[in-house]
Amino acid sequence: MNPLSKLVFELSKLPGIGEKTATRLAYFILNQDASYSDSLSQALRDAKAKLKLCAQCFNFAEANNEGSALCEICSDINRDQNQICVVERPSDVTPIERTGTYKGVYHVLHGLLSPLDGIGPEDIKLKEILVRLKTVDTREVIFALNPSVEGEATTLYLSRLLKPIGIKLSQVAYGIPFGGTIEFTDRQTLGKALENRVEMQGPK
Ligand SMILES: [Zn+2]
Repeated sequence: MNPLSKLVFELSKLPGIGEKTATRLAYFILNQDASYSDSLSQALRDAKAKLKLCAQCFNFAEANNEGSALCEICSDINRDQNQICVVERPSDVTPIERTGTYKGVYHVLHGLLSPLDGIGPEDIKLKEILVRLKTVDTREVIFALNPSVEGEATTLYLSRLLKPIGIKLSQVAYGIPFGGTIEFTDRQTLGKALENRVEMQGPK
């Protein structure tokens, strides 16, 4: 494969990038000074080498010298460590942070339960939240999962496990349309959805 085809091939693996966009990006990169491709490849290598999953919430965080990591949110003493917002992906944290209304911490599941795709409780960070709740005194768990079949299945599964512990469970109110995503919901809608979260009823 020639260098241009190789670049297009690698770029087209990125989510949402088809071959046409990949080709446009490749030409853009080629038209910049060499310093741009140097700093782009350096940034990619650094991000991959230096970012680990936060030992507490599993969001990405910069690793310390021992190779472990605690993210900025988990290590911020001004954040309410007793309120945990459960999200599917690291990219869901940023939009919630941008609302400016949430002062608690997070738990990133890295996926949703999806029996049809063979994704079960062992494949996502479910066990980890149960362990965490045993060690940290938690007042409230807020579910902010995408309103999809998988999101609802995961919320239901986890709420059944958590209900007996006696922690307040709530779910963001969905001004977010069914089938929509947390990541691409505008700031106001997401802020309102968090504010108007509803306490969840136990399983019948
Ligand atoms: Zn963290």
